[in-house]
Amino acid sequence: MTAASASASVAAVPALAARARVVGGSAVRDILAVTARPEVINFAGGLPAPELFDAEGVAAAFRDVFADTPARALQYATTEGEPALREALAIRHTARGLPTDADDLLVTTGSQQALSLLATALIEPGDVVLVETPCYLAALQVFGLAGAQVVAVAGDADGIDPGALEELVARHRPKLLYTVPTFRNPTGQTMPADRRAAVAEVAARLGLWIVEDDPYGELRFEGERVPWIASFPGAEDRTVLLGSFSKVMAPGLRLGWLRAPELLRRACAVAKQAADLHTPTVNQLAAARYLADQDLDAHVRRVAGVYGERRDAMLAGIGGALPEGSSWTRPEGGMFLWARLPEAYDTGALLRGAVEQGVAYVPGAPFFVGEGDRATLRLCFVTQTPEEIGEGLRRLGAGLR
Ligand code: PMP
Repeated sequence: MTAASASASVAAVPALAARARVVGGSAVRDILAVTARPEVINFAGGLPAPELFDAEGVAAAFRDVFADTPARALQYATTEGEPALREALAIRHTARGLPTDADDLLVTTGSQQALSLLATALIEPGDVVLVETPCYLAALQVFGLAGAQVVAVAGDADGIDPGALEELVARHRPKLLYTVPTFRNPTGQTMPADRRAAVAEVAARLGLWIVEDDPYGELRFEGERVPWIASFPGAEDRTVLLGSFSKVMAPGLRLGWLRAPELLRRACAVAKQAADLHTPTVNQLAAARYLADQDLDAHVRRVAGVYGERRDAMLAGIGGALPEGSSWTRPEGGMFLWARLPEAYDTGALLRGAVEQGVAYVPGAPFFVGEGDRATLRLCFVTQTPEEIGEGLRRLGAGLR
């Protein structure tokens, strides 16, 4: 066939699914593109500090797994997850005040997969999903891909406003409320216990799933731990708690889990079977081995201590970097700090100038449903040393001027 006759017979390929078209470009991908340039001080990516990974401990766990149970480690496994890992996770939940059996847990390929599984199990196109505002970007993406109508619940520094939640539940009959109540991505804020109790009460009285996403809760360097929403009266039978080793062990392991009532957990397991059959066996066994042989809590305390110093470094320099009239959060843990510049500033438009100065942040607008607040931005304070953070903030100040 000649080139001319080939082009004459070419027809357009069929269109993408509607759900893929509505989601548009991926802001997460755009952010990750910036992180690839080593000369940029990257406050944008949510990357745990790599020098703090317990590479030796994790490597020892893998070595032991391959020495002791190589065939099992390399074989297919059950969708629900390796019993040894689920058992160890159940013990950790129970020790933190939430009685949990291994059977209450489904191991997932990162907690991000848990969000996708929940969307598959719960959301019909057009269903309403409630989220806090601003909200974790990739959760908005998951709900958008599922065809949900995402509605933001008004809130304040303590998180979701229970009165606003009640009104929206009555009006929209939503399937679920998604929240990151501890060290929220993107603001770093934590919902106090009384607010959690009120959210649980609304969910119980009006009928609502709560998806409590908690990848950061262990990374507390100040203040007292607040119990999970899942443990408040009324929430027990309707809260899905998501956990992850990404921020406390290593994100490259892609290990997360969900704790959910049986019917929903089984639906998620079916969805997971269709998605990836199971999470890599060897990673699960190595994590279980790590939990058995090493002291994860001691490791996390060390990491949180360093992160606390880095938060202090960011708080020390941020006032000099941001324009007069800016405000920012003061997280007691986690990885992120959120700032709001005076009204006239557009952090999306200013990002190019900041990157030219050699520093990156995430503009805040994409974290909102619909029209976002353009004067906001998210800074990750854990990836660099205090010295680099100081230098990054000087660059940020130059970039914003
Ligand atoms: N939830 C939140 C709030 C997050 O910030 C992240 C990671 N950025 C995830 C879920 C996904 O984490 P992973 O899949 O690595 O467990």
